[in-house]
Amino acid sequence: MPPADHEGVSLYVHVPVCARACPYCDFDFVVDRRPDVAALLAAYGREVADRGLVGLRPRTVYVGGGTPSALGPDGLAALLSALGAWFDLGGVEERTVEVNPEHADDRLFEALARGGADRVSLGVQSFQDPVLALLGRAHTGAQARRAVVRAKSAGLRTSVDLIVGVPGAPARATCADLRAVTDLGPDHVSVYALTIEPDVPWQALVRRGRRRLPDPDAQADDLARAHARLERAGYEHYEVASYARPGARSIHNLGYWSWRDYVGIGPSAASARHEGGGVVRRSNARGLSAYLAGAAPAVERLGPEAAAREAMWLGLRRLDGFDRAALARRFGQPIAFVDGVLTPLLASGLVVRAGPRARLTPGRWLFHDAAGRAILDPGDAEPVGGG
Ligand code: SF4
Repeated sequence: MPPADHEGVSLYVHVPVCARACPYCDFDFVVDRRPDVAALLAAYGREVADRGLVGLRPRTVYVGGGTPSALGPDGLAALLSALGAWFDLGGVEERTVEVNPEHADDRLFEALARGGADRVSLGVQSFQDPVLALLGRAHTGAQARRAVVRAKSAGLRTSVDLIVGVPGAPARATCADLRAVTDLGPDHVSVYALTIEPDVPWQALVRRGRRRLPDPDAQADDLARAHARLERAGYEHYEVASYARPGARSIHNLGYWSWRDYVGIGPSAASARHEGGGVVRRSNARGLSAYLAGAAPAVERLGPEAAAREAMWLGLRRLDGFDRAALARRFGQPIAFVDGVLTPLLASGLVVRAGPRARLTPGRWLFHDAAGRAILDPGDAEPVGGG
């Protein structure tokens, strides 16, 4: 019998370099075309040793960023080999590496396959050159298509990230992207609406009249379009932003929505350990130079009630929701507490019960944020009935 989704520990490695800065990006990265791989690996190695993580036996490995593929085939091979030396990877069920299309040549995919990766997450975002230009991406639509084809021929499982609802994109750009993705047939597709945080460079472009802020209604239409098109093409919508061919759900990401422990290595990487009903969370220092200099992480402890609320919010990201009794057990709460938190959501029709589980009402997945506000901050929540 396969382990339950919450069992084991997920390992995440953050590679904090990018070849250029996309103006909407809020991740932790530095622009560096010739990253010092040896210095980065030495810093990861120090962190693994200092935290007593040598020999950890993770269930999944995910190398993300930033842009891991900016390390090049040799750099990624060295990273994968170092992970094999530090950790016990004998029981790993899934090894994913994020790859940007501009780096996606046969040498890179061969290095990944040889290093034990079995899945690539391709930062495509769009197959349309005008949309890629608005997003400030370094690749073209043709490179994005080739990346999917090459990864598949290298025998790797493929996931494609798409961004929809980009203001200023040509009419029907999302339809064209969905057609491209269903023609190429990756195993997994993640669809996000463009979000613009307060301090990203996109805001300065808005002030200068060179970009617009996203229109939430247009984004909701695009997300609904993606849902219909991908389901028609045989993808299962299993999480608010994730679609998979049968058997191709992301085991790593399911861990985050199923309250699995995780260990994050690298700048800004987060870790969480479930303990005594609560959660101990660690966030590594943000910024490559702070990390290389050994800056201390932030550590916080979430009590059982707060941890249970957060777990409900995360669990509702899965379209099959969560098992109420299992959640109550994991966070040491009576089931009456879980049901009490859910009561207003059930009353408003945003959430339904399905046997032992609670889940977003079918068709209401676009309202996950509203459900989250009601669960995490019930005092401040707006009405969650929504249309
Ligand atoms: S490549 Fe990814 S991580 Fe790097 S700047 Fe662009 S969106 Fe951010």
